[in-house]
Amino acid sequence: MRPQGVALLGATGSIGASTLAVIGRHPERFVLRAITAHSSAPALASLAARWAPAFVGLVSTAPTASAQAEWTRGPEALIAAATRADVDVVVNAVVGAAGLDATLAALRAGKRVALANKESLVVGGALVLEAARAGGGTIIPVDSEHSAILQCLHPRGAAAVRRLIITASGGPFRQWESARIATATREDALKHPTWSMGAKITVDSASLANKALEVIEAHHLFGVPYDRIEVVVHPQSVVHSMVEFHDGSVVAQLGVPSMELPVLYALSHPERLADAGVPRYDPVASGALTFEAVRRREFPMLDLGISAGRRGGAAPAVFNAANEAAVAAFLTGRCAFGRIAEVVGAALDRLGDAPHATRDALMAADAAARTFVEEQL
Ligand code: NDP
Ligand code: MG
Repeated sequence: MRPQGVALLGATGSIGASTLAVIGRHPERFVLRAITAHSSAPALASLAARWAPAFVGLVSTAPTASAQAEWTRGPEALIAAATRADVDVVVNAVVGAAGLDATLAALRAGKRVALANKESLVVGGALVLEAARAGGGTIIPVDSEHSAILQCLHPRGAAAVRRLIITASGGPFRQWESARIATATREDALKHPTWSMGAKITVDSASLANKALEVIEAHHLFGVPYDRIEVVVHPQSVVHSMVEFHDGSVVAQLGVPSMELPVLYALSHPERLADAGVPRYDPVASGALTFEAVRRREFPMLDLGISAGRRGGAAPAVFNAANEAAVAAFLTGRCAFGRIAEVVGAALDRLGDAPHATRDALMAADAAARTFVEEQL
């Protein structure tokens, strides 16, 4: 079998590193053809030297000594990488709504998209599904919960599903009181108990905005209505999610919290590849697995996001963009943790009914939400 050509968007990030580790262990199956980053030119240059991909793209056009003349520069680099003829699989590991256009382009070009960029589905769910239908592309989730659900559903799909049960670690503030959460610092929020990830998703995991994004993502990926998707806190992050079927049986997928397994599965689905590098699960060493209800009052971002998902239209795009802007402000010390939910809620009240029929309309709603949040801060 000829190796699959891979384009890795967001190669310098956390999922980017997990993907490179997996690809490096399976040279007979995968060959890296294209890599991109936003502005980490030195890191991109060392990946380019190590992997020698045919295409290197840097979104930022700011002058940098590390960039080579043959690199493609600017936001078009993502689409150029994602639609190359020598690419079969696009791993979209870009963070934020900035990943949407590359997802759409890859699906329209008939590629398999290993999707870590959940924001693509949150912002443009209907457009993304339509792009896949139109171009013959397929979406395989990298997000661990959705990978778990896909594995539980395989091979029969979602027809006999009664309920999806998405697990959440609960984040670093799982047991904190509201007043303490409201004034949590950047350092507090970046101390995730079980996963090592990029800064934005780590903050989203602390507020549970990430779980709201994941409920919307699951709704689109598996076509399950919102009232049949539940969230349960599972502090050990070993059960990655569960599916309850009509007959009452519940199937779960377990594993050590490492993104290398869901990345490997997204690249190999529906096959399973032997991989000695993926950490193995030992049930005795791992110890007790516990589950508890989400403290919804203390974590208002969960229901804000799910209600934006139910509202549909531009509301999820507004929720996502307002959250991105508020999290960026939190990370730079311009927004208290407790203010994130306030400004996102206000953005939804003001802009949640924005027009949404096209990609441009969604991006306009996204931009308006970012401007609104900046004005509030
Ligand atoms: P990181 O912040 O670690 O990496 C993000 C990557 O995207 C970097 O390569 C970055 O480049 C690039 N990037 C950032 N902004 C842009 C932009 N505007 N345009 C193009 N490229 C950009 O993020 P993660 O790897 O943690 O997350 C990536 C995605 O995967 C997110 O959607 C996240 O929700 C999802 N995900 C992550 C998990 C994890 O374990 N990390 C788990 C499940 C999902 P540069 O280095 O130059 O800034
Ligand atoms: Mg996840």
